[in-house]
Amino acid sequence: MNGSDLKMLVAEAADLILSSNKLVVFTGAGISTESGIPDFRSPGGIWERFDPDDFTYSKFISSKDSRRMQWNLFREGLLSDKAVPNAAHIAIADLYKMGRLDCVITQNIDNLHQKAGVPDDMVYELHGNMKWARCLECGRRYPFEEIKGRLEQGEEIPDCIACRGMLKPDIVMFEEQLPVDVLEEAGYRSMAADLFIVIGSTLTVYPAAYMPIYAVRSGVKLIIVNLSNTPMDRHAAVVINEKAGDTMTSIVQTVQEKSGL
Ligand code: NAD
Repeated sequence: MNGSDLKMLVAEAADLILSSNKLVVFTGAGISTESGIPDFRSPGGIWERFDPDDFTYSKFISSKDSRRMQWNLFREGLLSDKAVPNAAHIAIADLYKMGRLDCVITQNIDNLHQKAGVPDDMVYELHGNMKWARCLECGRRYPFEEIKGRLEQGEEIPDCIACRGMLKPDIVMFEEQLPVDVLEEAGYRSMAADLFIVIGSTLTVYPAAYMPIYAVRSGVKLIIVNLSNTPMDRHAAVVINEKAGDTMTSIVQTVQEKSGL
């Protein structure tokens, strides 16, 4: 994309934000690649190193070997908890500080929106959050750091200290139901928005990918910032196939300039 085309698209996106009263931001793994967390499907992504079939819920609960293997990968830092927010997360947090954000709906489990400064209750995490592990028997939650410590000390399959039940990272695995309350609220907010920005998602993982579909069917304007094409591009008012960090920074700076901040 040449520089003047990009500038024009950034200005268009900024104008849409300036005329919006209910802005929903929807993010996928692509927003966190610039924080050093690989996405799943890009070259070098997680599925080039691991087999997605090993990460199913049924395998986790039915096979001790599978639990050992999965906990081992978490111990090795499949998704590093040391990652810090990048320019795109910070730009979204700036929109929140400017009073221009209704909520963030995210497919990510890395907690980086909250680390950037978006309040917890404004982030709808469709696939859970890496910062907790949960007991499948009694429901007790443990900070992931605590479990990681136990793994690093040699426990292979940590269990619940209270009831000896099976512990599981509090993230949605393949085949597992998404949290119904989060899904419902995210769907409602997608339909009630007046502007919906997708950042860093292939929009091919369902039911998360229904969110922009609900939005567009409700007449909500759509902006997409993603390196590769998505099935929703043809419905978008603005599509920017550039890196999320620089793009979101430019968009938010333009919003600030145009609103005299
Ligand atoms: P995906 O891996 O299917 O696609 C990521 C998309 O982001 C791709 O289209 C890619 O072109 C784009 N992208 C990569 N780097 C980018 C950048 N710097 N700027 C702009 N775009 C960029 O991701 P997905 O559609 O979100 O779905 C995969 C699932 O994987 C999600 O449901 C999520 O739960 C999970 N996941 C989460 C994390 C995380 O928490 N950080 C990491 C990996 C996977």
